[in-house]
Amino acid sequence: MSLIVQKFGGSSVANAERVNNVARIVTDTYKKGNKVVVVVSAQGDTTDELIEKQMEINPNASKRERDMLLAAGEQISIALLAMAIEKIGCPVVSLLGWQAGVRTTSSHTNARIKFIDCERLKRELDHNRIVIVAGFQGITRYGDVTTLGRGGSDTSAVALACGLHADLCQIYTDVEGVYTADPRKIKDARKLDEISYDEMLELATLGAQVLHNRSVELAKKYNLELEVLSSLTSAPGTIVKEAAKVESMLISGIAKDTDIARISVIGVPDEPGLAFKMFSKLAASDVNIDIILQSVGRDGTKDIAFTVSKDKLADTKKVIENFMPSLKAQKVIFDEDVAKVSIVGAGMESHSGFASKMFEALYNADINIQMISTSEIKISVLIKASDADRAVAALHRGFFD
Ligand code: ADP
Ligand code: ASP
Ligand code: MG
Repeated sequence: MSLIVQKFGGSSVANAERVNNVARIVTDTYKKGNKVVVVVSAQGDTTDELIEKQMEINPNASKRERDMLLAAGEQISIALLAMAIEKIGCPVVSLLGWQAGVRTTSSHTNARIKFIDCERLKRELDHNRIVIVAGFQGITRYGDVTTLGRGGSDTSAVALACGLHADLCQIYTDVEGVYTADPRKIKDARKLDEISYDEMLELATLGAQVLHNRSVELAKKYNLELEVLSSLTSAPGTIVKEAAKVESMLISGIAKDTDIARISVIGVPDEPGLAFKMFSKLAASDVNIDIILQSVGRDGTKDIAFTVSKDKLADTKKVIENFMPSLKAQKVIFDEDVAKVSIVGAGMESHSGFASKMFEALYNADINIQMISTSEIKISVLIKASDADRAVAALHRGFFD
């Protein structure tokens, strides 16, 4: 007998037929003698629809109330899935995040799981019930409902699997695994049998939506293998683990992120301390900086450009505008029409030539690069948003054809 955590994303439970399909997968696993904990997301586009409702009423609503609203989506799916399982005749109970003991920080809309109090879960499992848990949500020490950031149900599932010392954690979604690029955009994208935590973490952080990046971070920390697979077909999926088998491919994937904005601070005095002052003020406002580029000083001035995620643009504008008088910049440009496209692969650590091959593919597609950043296992470029899909296609051809 094994303890298995299965997570089903929004498209896997989008309508009654899909909910019944998930109930069948879950009960099949249960009937084989396993203990099963199931994590579900809100149905289909429910979370987006809830955000639209909020925007109609109050675009500046507090984060606490936004969480209260967003958490509602998952409450619907856990109840519906439990009802579908009752119909099949297996014992089942649905639990909200707080009932399942998911304790988080107080950073509403982007809370982090601090620990799982597994007592209730264990009690339900001891009663041989299938336990259905609402993903994406938890509770603070003060008793307030929180959510974990968009796509956070993956992290709920991994955290529960780690907390319960599960034998297996399966992430069911609407594609058959992790591919070399988004299979909905690139028809030649290849499914990977295995991928390492580090590569998967980079891909997820750089925009491959298939796994929430914090779920990969957590799986790596606890050395929990993840299986990413489809709820709609029975094809084998992708295993995410410490050391993926060495394939002939040195690059594991290409990712695109359009949730990014570039800020260019032009013509600031070329003197020590300026970057420190500006970035420490941004850090104090909880703005994470991604790529930074500083030009060589000329005629006593220099330019500094950097990127932030779009949801931090308003905070960034506020800081820069307050800081403007002491910044003595000639002008500041805020540009949301940008995207980051990245290649990821552990092979980069030991082989050379990836950057030139990447830049050649982009040059051949007539795509201009605005900024570049690298780490041991990835190279990212900032380009115009309208070039992003063409860039991914050109890079996929360049590296995988
Ligand atoms: P779920 O609702 O199951 O959580 P998501 O929509 O969050 O599913 O993630 C699955 C989607 O991720 C796929 O439909 C696919 O379009 C997208 N995706 C982006 N990059 C990749 C990739 N490299 N491999 C697989 N899927 C990807
Ligand atoms: N329902 C949430 C979202 O749409 C969480 C998730 O899908 O993982 O972001
Ligand atoms: Mg998801």
